[in-house]
Amino acid sequence: MNEQICPICSAKVEPNVRYKDYICFDCCAKAVDETGRNLGFGNESFSGGFVAWYEDTNETRDSHICYINGVKCWADEAHMGGIVIRIYAGEN
Ligand SMILES: [Zn+2]
Repeated sequence: MNEQICPICSAKVEPNVRYKDYICFDCCAKAVDETGRNLGFGNESFSGGFVAWYEDTNETRDSHICYINGVKCWADEAHMGGIVIRIYAGEN
């Protein structure tokens, strides 16, 4: 069956053909940087783009890297808009 689970918490997620290993919303909400500061992610504009920021200061962060439950992850703009976070698999 085409069931899909979050690679961090194993919760069932909506199957996605393009992103077979995306991290669920609850885990994405726990994303932090190397030092444990909370991170937020979003699109730069309605036409897309990727932007990350520190939730405590709203300062932008120039990186796609984040950590969820100690696992290094990569956040990026999703194909159809929005944000997708996956476990970091090395530089593209
Ligand atoms: Zn999860």
